[in-house]
Amino acid sequence: MEGGYELSGHKQWITNGRAAGTMIVFARAEDGVTAFLVSADAAGVSWGKHARKMGVISATTDDLHLSGVFVPEEDRLGGEGRGLGVALGTLDGGRIGIAAQAVGIAEAAFRYAARYASERTTFGKPIAEHQAVAFKLADMQTKIRAARLLTYEAAWAKDRGMRVTEAGARAKLYASTVANEVADEALQVLGGQGYMKDHPVERYYRDARVTEIYEGTSEIQRLVISRGILEEIAGSLESPGGVRGSRPVVG
Ligand SMILES: Cc1cc2nc3c(=O)[nH]c(=O)nc-3n(C[C@H](O)[C@H](O)[C@H](O)COP(=O)(O)OP(=O)(O)OC[C@H]3O[C@@H](n4cnc5c(N)ncnc54)[C@H](O)[C@@H]3O)c2cc1C
Repeated sequence: MEGGYELSGHKQWITNGRAAGTMIVFARAEDGVTAFLVSADAAGVSWGKHARKMGVISATTDDLHLSGVFVPEEDRLGGEGRGLGVALGTLDGGRIGIAAQAVGIAEAAFRYAARYASERTTFGKPIAEHQAVAFKLADMQTKIRAARLLTYEAAWAKDRGMRVTEAGARAKLYASTVANEVADEALQVLGGQGYMKDHPVERYYRDARVTEIYEGTSEIQRLVISRGILEEIAGSLESPGGVRGSRPVVG
């Protein structure tokens, strides 16, 4: 329309959206998906259902409705039809954030379980001294360190302006798997106490679950990573150097 755009539509499950003053909205314009800046108090903006979730309940998850919201041309972010690139670029970085969240949940669950295991005694000694429990702790710590290094690798590359599509996907895929495995084992280390709300481990168990889902499910991360591998192989076939050295280590 004259001097700008009129946006109408609905987007579900926006994390902490209600707290935002300004939103980036991706909408289909004549020339394809386009990014717009929209003020949260613009006429025609409203919020719908507040989602009831199994975990991460301190974050809000809400549905946004736009009904004929006017956006002036100067509030278009980038060119018309260039929005998908903006959105996918944001996801690459966002996945590193979810990997870090997953590492944090895993670390908290591990520390709690390790402390509990050193205090709870059965059959005359702390349960941490029973090999079955000690080996769980060893596996948990090892996995967390590996997940943290993958996350640092991706964040390091992002800081240097490198492509992080695959590195971010690898970090998120592995760290979210580890968060779920570690939270599950931490709960087991606490035995019946782990199932109770008196300890934070049942919350870590619930909070970890969504890291395998949002910012792209684990299946989608595998899709991204495997496409990268195929591109790498195709690139190496064209270059005389073979597969090795065809691509930077991080990427
Ligand atoms: C708590 C929470 C907060 C969220 N916050 C946000 C937010 O702030 N912003 C936002 O935009 N979204 C948000 N989401 C949405 C989230 O990103 C999606 O739920 C997620 O990407 C999965 O998409 P979907 O639910 O449509 O699943 P679907 O796409 O329906 O997938 C269902 C299943 O099929 C599999 N699948 C689908 N396609 C393929 C394929 N091509 N190959 C293999 N397997 C496939 C999936 O991996 C999954 O197991 C949030 C979701 C939750 C639960």
